[in-house]
Amino acid sequence: MSSTTDILHSIPVDELTGSLSVPVYQTATFVQEAPGVNKGYDYARSGNPTRHALESVVAKLEGGHSAFAFATGLAAIDSVIKLLSTGDEIIAVDDIYGGAYRLFTHVYQKLGIKIHYVDTTDDDNILKFVNQNTKLIWIESPTNPTLKITDIAHVSKIAKSINALLVVDNTFASPASQKPIQLGADIVIHSATKYLGGHSDLLAGIVVTKTEELSEKIKFIQNASGGILGPWDCFLAIRGIETLNLRVERQSETAYKIAHFLEQHEAVDQVHYPGLVSHKNHEIAKKQQKGSFGSIISFSLKDDTSENAVKFVTSTKYFKLAESLGGVKSLLCQPAQMTHASVPREKRLSSGIQDSLIRLSCGIEETEDLLNDIKKALDLISKPKNKLVV
Ligand SMILES: *Cc1c(COP(=O)(O)O)cnc(C)c1O
Repeated sequence: MSSTTDILHSIPVDELTGSLSVPVYQTATFVQEAPGVNKGYDYARSGNPTRHALESVVAKLEGGHSAFAFATGLAAIDSVIKLLSTGDEIIAVDDIYGGAYRLFTHVYQKLGIKIHYVDTTDDDNILKFVNQNTKLIWIESPTNPTLKITDIAHVSKIAKSINALLVVDNTFASPASQKPIQLGADIVIHSATKYLGGHSDLLAGIVVTKTEELSEKIKFIQNASGGILGPWDCFLAIRGIETLNLRVERQSETAYKIAHFLEQHEAVDQVHYPGLVSHKNHEIAKKQQKGSFGSIISFSLKDDTSENAVKFVTSTKYFKLAESLGGVKSLLCQPAQMTHASVPREKRLSSGIQDSLIRLSCGIEETEDLLNDIKKALDLISKPKNKLVV
């Protein structure tokens, strides 16, 4: 259930007033007729109708049993780790989102949870660290910023065989293109700050659960820890989701054209985009990312210097220099000095993050405008310096 028709019409019309859009129930509490007698809501941390509407839509979108909305993507990730106990182990993708790495390593490791980071594109690497304490396998596909692809259906079989849960951070694909639960995942998480919200105007996180049992556990943690998403942000997220398919379709078409252009440009070294036949796991991406490869591209320059990357990222007109991705306005960044600045340079280089690597997030502007923007910025780098003097 995820055509635009289905999405729009799965958002409930307000029963009380007929309001076509979901009202923002900006309240902390709900009046009770007698102690414990209420209309389904008592206190807004435990439940809020605006949040409930968002959670239902995302559960349908991802084909899960339930969904839970959190204040940020990281709060959503945090709630999943709270399923574990001291002594449990996680096998996680090595180029995991930096904030998840920080949370796992600097918060949960201290509490006795062990994390093994491996390249999950090769299942031997996963099997090496499996033991009776392995409780979670945590993957992202595509990854940030080099867009590595892991075969989700394949890893889900490994997870099942060892009785571990498979968690997929689906932020970079979005449910417009990839539905990990259908591929065998037990839990899907999102930074709804990115594609789901889609307008770079809110922070939000989502956990989607496959089974009733997992739903009960996450619901308990959501209420117990309290990192819920407020009603106004729930409203904004619903509004964003209404156009998710249209946005991702347009953004992916543009990204494909730009990736293709970059691949043929003399100043460009490597281009990472799952839609390109040259991508190492293009066939797997084609199989699991139905219909679109997303709006994120990263590429490095032949003249691999940080100066060149800075020159590029500060000279585009429409691609604005900022962290985040997936929104209607195009953004770009230089991971080495921005999103991945805290990763030591040697580790960055070994995971393909050169100094000159540039990450693009294509928005919904006209494709030609974005292509010209990229062309002009590349000209500044590839033309001999003396010709630049006007
Ligand atoms: C941004 C991001 C997160 C964290 O989400 P926030 O909303 O910023 O807390 C998690 N995973 C991925 C893949 C992300 O891109």
